[in-house]
Amino acid sequence: MATTAEDVIRAQAERPDQIALTIDGQEVLCDRGDTVLEAAQRVGIHIPTLCYEPRLPATGACRICLVEVEGARKMAPSCSTAVAEGMVVRTQTDKVRAMRHLYLELLLSDHNSFCTPPCRDACPTHIKIPQFLDYIAHKDYKNGVRKLREDLPFPSVVGRVCPRPCEGPCRRQLVEHPITICWLHRFMGDQCIDEEQTGDLLLPVEPKADTGRRIAIVGGGPAGLAAAFYARLEGHSVKIFEALPKPGGMLRYGIPSYRLPRDLLDKELNMLWRLGVELQVNTRLGADFQLEELFDQGFDAVFLALGAFNSNEMNIPDEGADGVVTAVDFLGELEITGSVHVGEKVTVIGGGFTAMDACRTSMRKGAKEVTCLYRRSRKEMPAHHTEVDEAEEEGVKLELLVAPVRVMTDDANTVTGIEVQRMELGEPDASGRRRPVPVEGSEFVVECDQVIAAIGQYPKLDGTSEEQGVKRTKWRTIQVDDWTFQADDPRVFAGGDVVLGAQTVIQAVAQGKKAAWSMDAYLRGVDMPDVSRQLAELKASPFLAALTNKTDLDPRISRLAEIPPVFVDMTTDVAHPSPPAEMPKSEPEDRKTNFKQIEQGFPEEEAVRGAGLCLDCYCPANGKCDLQRYSIEYDVFKNRFHGGAAHDYPADFRHDFIMREPNRCINCGRCVRVCRMEVGSSCYDNMGRGFDTIVSTADNLPLQVVGCVSCGKCAETCPTGSIETNPRLLASYDLDESRCMFCGECVEVCPYDALEQADFFELAGYSRTTMARESLYVREPSPVDPLRETVTDLIPHVRDGVLGDGWVWEPIQDDPIDLGGGNGDGKGLRRD
Ligand code: FAD
Repeated sequence: MATTAEDVIRAQAERPDQIALTIDGQEVLCDRGDTVLEAAQRVGIHIPTLCYEPRLPATGACRICLVEVEGARKMAPSCSTAVAEGMVVRTQTDKVRAMRHLYLELLLSDHNSFCTPPCRDACPTHIKIPQFLDYIAHKDYKNGVRKLREDLPFPSVVGRVCPRPCEGPCRRQLVEHPITICWLHRFMGDQCIDEEQTGDLLLPVEPKADTGRRIAIVGGGPAGLAAAFYARLEGHSVKIFEALPKPGGMLRYGIPSYRLPRDLLDKELNMLWRLGVELQVNTRLGADFQLEELFDQGFDAVFLALGAFNSNEMNIPDEGADGVVTAVDFLGELEITGSVHVGEKVTVIGGGFTAMDACRTSMRKGAKEVTCLYRRSRKEMPAHHTEVDEAEEEGVKLELLVAPVRVMTDDANTVTGIEVQRMELGEPDASGRRRPVPVEGSEFVVECDQVIAAIGQYPKLDGTSEEQGVKRTKWRTIQVDDWTFQADDPRVFAGGDVVLGAQTVIQAVAQGKKAAWSMDAYLRGVDMPDVSRQLAELKASPFLAALTNKTDLDPRISRLAEIPPVFVDMTTDVAHPSPPAEMPKSEPEDRKTNFKQIEQGFPEEEAVRGAGLCLDCYCPANGKCDLQRYSIEYDVFKNRFHGGAAHDYPADFRHDFIMREPNRCINCGRCVRVCRMEVGSSCYDNMGRGFDTIVSTADNLPLQVVGCVSCGKCAETCPTGSIETNPRLLASYDLDESRCMFCGECVEVCPYDALEQADFFELAGYSRTTMARESLYVREPSPVDPLRETVTDLIPHVRDGVLGDGWVWEPIQDDPIDLGGGNGDGKGLRRD
C-alpha cells in the first residue's frame, strides 16, 4: 500500500474528485491523492510524526506514523501512503502502539542528551545547575553567581552547609560519580565575594523601581534573608526585625564556624544591606513589638520567618537534671557568649546535623569522650554521611540502635549517666525509614556528666496567635496556603522552619523566595485565592500540559509553580570518564581542637574540570520536543536498547545564530530537505554510514562556510532540540543607497519574505518589531552578561501542526522548566 513520494506528488497533482475511507471507525471524505496522514488530520485524528515536514514530500523514514490498513500485510507509514476508496485505517491499535514504542526506543538508544536535569528538580529552590556549571567551566564566575541568584542568593554560604539533595540524582553517576555541585557553587561564590563587598552587586536582574510598598520580615534566618532579597528585587522596601544580636538564624546560632566561617557569612549577607534591606537586631516579636504594630507603622505585608527554636523533649524521667541541655541552647550559647560549659564525658542524643554539630563542638571544646546515641542504624541517620564520617574521624563514638530510657542523676540532681535500651528495626514508618522497636531487657547505662539532646525542634510562636489570623497546625507550625504562603490574615505570610518544622537551609531559602514573589503578587492586588487554585491545578496536570498551561499565566505568578517533570530514559555515553572534583580537607588531628574551616576550597583548575563534567541534562526544547512528547505518550521510560555505545558528538556553537547539538539528532532529515528544497542552500546531508550516520555539514564545516543564509528554517523544522537558534542582538540594517542597484536579489533569496519590491522598484523593509513578538525558544552558547537588555530571536517555531479539531501544538513562550526566575515580565532577555 505504501507509495513513493513521487507517487504522492503525482496523485496530488491529479485530484480529480473526492474519495471516502474510514479512519478509526470514522468516515472521512478527502481528495484523491491525499495521504492517510492528511486525511486523518482533516478530521482531527492525531497520528504522531517526526520526519514529516508538511511543506515537503514525505519520506516515511522515522516510522512513527505507522498505521494499520485493513488487508495490508504490513503496517504503512501514513505520511507517504495515499488514500484509496473504501480504505479502512486504524491508528491506535495495540500493534500500532507497540511498533511506535519500538521505534521510539530505537531512536532514543542513540539520543545522548536529556530533556530536563534531575538535579534541578531535586533542589528545593530549583537552581539552574547545568547553566551555572557552564559559567564555571568558562571561568565566568560573576555571571555564574548572577545566574544562581535567580534562585539562591547565597552561593558561598549554602555551598558549605547544604545536604545536597541535587547530587543524589545527578546523571553523571550513570558514567561514574555525581558531580560535586554544591562545592562548585561555593567555589564560584567565593571567587566573587571579596570584590562584591564594594564593587558591583551580582544581581540576577536589575532591581525594579521603588513600588512604595513596605514589607516587614520577622526573623533574619535563611528564609527571612532570601525573602528580603527577592522582595527588594521587586522594588519593595524591606525591613528585617531580628531577635538575636546578628542576622543569620541557625546559620550563625546553630551551624558551627568550622563549617561556616562567620566572616564569610557576614560578607555574603553584606550584599543585602548594600541592596537597601534594613535590619533591626535585638528586637523580638511578642516582647519588643506586636504584630499589629507593624501594620500601624505602615508595613503592607509581614513575612514571619521565626525558625524552629524550641527543642523537642525526650519525654524521659529526669530530663530536667543539671547537665542536660538542648543542642540548640548549647550551640547558641557558644555563639552568643563565646564560651559554653562542656562535660568530660558527653552524650549526645540524635542523628541529624544538630547532633553531629553538638558532638563535634564538644570535642573541640575539650570533652574527653563524646558518644552519640541514635535509635536507628547509620543508614537512617538524617545527617549527611560525610558529617558522620568526619565526626567519627575526630573521635566521636557512635552507639547506634539505642534509645534513651531515663537520665541517671546523683543526690544533687546532676547527671551521672543515661540509661538506654537497644532497638531493632521494624516496618517502615510514615517517613519511609524503618521504625525502631525496643528489645525487651536490653537496657544498659552510658556513663556521662553531660547530656545534649538533639532530637528535633519546633517553632517558638511567641507574639502570634490564632486571633491575629496566624493559625497553627497539629505539628505546632504556622498554617499557610501551600502556594501563596499566606496565613489566615492575608497580609501575613510565613515560611521556612516556622512552616515546615526543622528542615534545611535550602528549603528555607526556597520558601523565602516564593513567599517574596507571593507578597509581590499580593501587593500588586492579584486575586490570591485564584493564584492558589491555578498553581494547584498546574501541579495536578500532566507534565506537558502543565508546561503549556503555565504559559497562559502571568510569568510573575507562574514562577511560583511547581511542575513535577517526567524523565524519559535515554542513553549516556561519555568518551572520557573523569572523577568528580574533590575538595581538600584538613586532617582530623589538626581540626578537632579548633573551629577553623575544615574544607579548604578548590584550586581553580579542579573546579573548572569538575564543572566541565556536567552532562548538561538540559535541553532548550524541553516541553516542545516531539520526541519527548511521544516518548511520554508511549511510556518509553525504560529502554531495552540501552547499554550499547551511544555517540557523543560535540555541540557546535560556531555559527552566531544556529546551535547544533548532534547528540539530539534523530536523523529524520527534515533540516536536510528544508535547507535544500525550501531555502536552496543544501547546507546539510546525511554523513557517515550505518550506525555512524549523522546529519551534518560537509566535513562538519561551520555552517557559515557551507552556504548558510542564517534563515533558521532548519531550527524551525527540527522536531527535537538538535538545531536551535541562539540569542542574538536585534540589529537594524541600513541600506547603503549609494551602492544598491535595486537588483532585487535580496528580495528573491530572503527565505522569510522580509523584503518586498514595492512601487517604483524600491525595497521596502519588514517591521522587525512585529516579527520579534513571535515567540521563540533560545539558548545561549556561552555565557553573556545576563543584565544585558536584548530581544533575541525572530523565528516562530511551528512544527507538525495538526489540522482539524485534534491536538494542536502551541509554541511555548518561556523556559519550560523555569519553575521560577526569569526576568519577571516574560519579555526581553532569555538566557537559558
Ligand atoms: P532560622 O534559621 O531558625 O532563623 C529564624 C530567625 O528568626 C532567627 O534569627 C531567630 O533569632 C529569629 N526569630 C525567632 N523568633 C523571633 C521573634 N519572635 N522575633 C524576631 N526574630 C525572631 N540545615 C542545612 O541545610 N544544613 C546544615 O548543615 C544544617 N545544620 C544545622 C545545624 C544546627 C545546629 C541546626 C539547629 C540546624 C541546622 N540546619 C541545617 C537547619 C537549618 O539551619 C534550618 O532549617 C534553617 O536555618 C531554617 O531557616 P529559617 O530562616 O526558617 O529559620
